[in-house]
Amino acid sequence: MKEMENNNLGDMPREDFRRYGHEIVDWIADYFERMETLPVLSQNQPGDLKNALPASAPERGENFPQIFGDVEKLILPAVTHWNHPNFHGLFSTSTSSVGVFGEMLAAAFDMKAMLWRTSPASTELEPVVLDWLRQMMNLTEDFHGIIYDTASVSTLHAVAMAREKLNLGIRENGMSGRSDLPLLRVYCSEQTHSSIDKAVVLLGLGTRALVKIPTNERFEMDSEKLREAIRDDISAGNLPLCVVATVGTTSTTALDPVDKIADICRRNNIFLHVDAAYAGSAAIVPEFQTYFKGWERADSIVTNPHKWLFTPFDLSVLYVKDLDLLKKTFSLVAEYLKVTETVTNQMDYGIQLGRRFRSLKLWFVMRYFGQEGLRERIREHCRLARAFAGWVDDSENFEMLAPVPFALCCFRAAPPTTRTFVSDELREKYIDELNERIMNEINASGEAYLSHTKLNGKFTLRLSVGSIRVEERHLRKVWDLLNEKVNNEIR
Ligand code: PLP
Repeated sequence: MKEMENNNLGDMPREDFRRYGHEIVDWIADYFERMETLPVLSQNQPGDLKNALPASAPERGENFPQIFGDVEKLILPAVTHWNHPNFHGLFSTSTSSVGVFGEMLAAAFDMKAMLWRTSPASTELEPVVLDWLRQMMNLTEDFHGIIYDTASVSTLHAVAMAREKLNLGIRENGMSGRSDLPLLRVYCSEQTHSSIDKAVVLLGLGTRALVKIPTNERFEMDSEKLREAIRDDISAGNLPLCVVATVGTTSTTALDPVDKIADICRRNNIFLHVDAAYAGSAAIVPEFQTYFKGWERADSIVTNPHKWLFTPFDLSVLYVKDLDLLKKTFSLVAEYLKVTETVTNQMDYGIQLGRRFRSLKLWFVMRYFGQEGLRERIREHCRLARAFAGWVDDSENFEMLAPVPFALCCFRAAPPTTRTFVSDELREKYIDELNERIMNEINASGEAYLSHTKLNGKFTLRLSVGSIRVEERHLRKVWDLLNEKVNNEIR
């Protein structure tokens, strides 16, 4: 009987949790310190980790030191270090230490925020934190925030709201088998993130609903072309559903002319969603406000603190003007979720029932760094990106390929020796291959990570500055690597 009482049911013993918990925090602190000695991109080959793992879970529990030992041995080599200050690919995003604390506590509480009563802390902290952020971004009071995991999901919710706003009875009757529905249209630029394509697919609108408006030489949506596309659609009997404008596009951080787009939307009574997933954080810096002109006229805006506000993945914020419309789009209360109190229940505002307690980590970040600390970090990243762009401009071997409004440089190596090519076509082909080779070599070295895009058909290197740990010396290192590679090629 005694043995039955000590039968190891229940959780890890308290003392073990305490001991290993301290060890893990020490390990994380060491990890942040030794980060720069680790290769930025995992040096593993596909399948390496999978092949090192047993095919089934252990029948009997293992002790924690053994499990944790495998983190160092098996998991760490398979990690690409997004927190590394030389992670410049895609968008350079990183967590702060204090953000890690937020995640730890959220995991400890393990709350599923669905009803107020299941999670008063999340239900009440979230709107407060998002109102702080709204004020910091200088957005008007009529915006109400809600947290989702990613911008892709935030945007999906925004487009669903726009569809609901048309009052076509789609919530009740769906879209299939209906002859009374016109072709619904969603407009965005050629440079818009693929999450818009996914949203139209998932919402049953189909990719043919999507109208990709051409961009100008700065990769900004051509608002005149938008006006024409809407006019043509209306005369053809199609129904505009929404326009998605981007402030800070994925490839180049270009700025769609939101103010002009808002004029067009207002005139035609079209829902306007602004994708500021990356650049929204920069709106907290007063001198960047000018880039956001007109976004306060949108119906919804997405911004991702997990991208550039040092908050661990994931945390995306959708600001909407019409919270009731969002609720009308998603609310569905099953019997077992009916409650008597009149309160906000977060399950009413999206497709998820249970939601993570994400606002806690953003609250930590905002309080620990303060508005000033966050502003200064973003300013510094933009200063560093401009400095890098200056080195490119001053070099005869490299050229910039897009403006730098925020902290991303789009550039390529184009050494003067290539001018001797017999045709432009051959020259461009060689330059594309050269840049791809340089990028692959730098990435394979583990010293830094760069990614690429294509601009006007040209293979373009992208260097994003956004890690909380980045300093000028890190950019110097990349610059030296780039020059070394080009010099080796042209020698
Ligand atoms: N929108 C823009 C402008 C982006 O740059 C990205 C990702 O980089 C996204 C949306 C998608 O973000 P998420 O990974 O949070 O879905």
